[in-house]
Amino acid sequence: MRIIQASEVEALIKQLILDAEFNIGDDIRSALQTALLRETTAPARLALEQILENQRIAASEQTPLCQDTGMIVVFAYLGQDVHIDGGFEEAIQSGARSAFHEGYLRASVVADPLFDRINTRDNSPAIIHLRLLPDDDNLRLLVIPKGFGSENMSAIRMFPPSAGRDGVVDFIVDTVRRAGSKPCPPTIIGVGIGGTFEQCAQIAKLATARRVGSINPDERYAALESECLERVNALGIGPAGYGGITTALAVHISCVPTHIAGMPVAVNIVCHASRHSEGSL
Ligand code: SF4
Repeated sequence: MRIIQASEVEALIKQLILDAEFNIGDDIRSALQTALLRETTAPARLALEQILENQRIAASEQTPLCQDTGMIVVFAYLGQDVHIDGGFEEAIQSGARSAFHEGYLRASVVADPLFDRINTRDNSPAIIHLRLLPDDDNLRLLVIPKGFGSENMSAIRMFPPSAGRDGVVDFIVDTVRRAGSKPCPPTIIGVGIGGTFEQCAQIAKLATARRVGSINPDERYAALESECLERVNALGIGPAGYGGITTALAVHISCVPTHIAGMPVAVNIVCHASRHSEGSL
């Protein structure tokens, strides 16, 4: 049995949040640079240049990539052979609060979603998804600060199995079409297929954090991703909605087993400030 102190979890969460908020992944930066080489119209090129310049400034000055510093989503993978000495969930919440205070991140969370909508003032609570892993004595944490310009444009639908491949592709493309410029394109489209209502949405979010440029190991889904990306980029929404051929940088599809009577599909859109950071103890 390995012992990890709750204070170590707290420190790691804080570090991962600040890293994600200030530094964009090299895969996303490189995809944006490639898009800049391919775009031919002045407005699309200008939008991409400004996005890249913003990323350079954020990294060099260690300031947030965007004013919407998002709601913190944490995927925690805890080995069953680990004992956390202290409160695990409180360590995550406390690390998240510290990151928001020390990094001067915007407090973006309200306690009651419908009536009072009073700001919690420290961006708490973070959302925690925890999985236990057998034969493992590590803790792995993936942090995704999620802005709501893009979260608001995400969608889920409970399809019958007869909707088939074409139904899935049309739903993905239609979700991006309806979103227009609101999710701050170029986006990354995370798609979950299968599971139940909530699992489908969860794997869609996880899919957004997959490395841009990586290929789906299942050939059928790899082909589906390419087709969706091509159709999404043919919509002409373009960088920042100024028109062009880069509405999305990637479509990432994740799937899990589902019930014989259904085929849930979730589309989680992430903006060009696709922030995530990973670490382990
Ligand atoms: S969608 Fe992304 S880039 Fe746009 S305001 Fe929200 S966090 Fe910022």
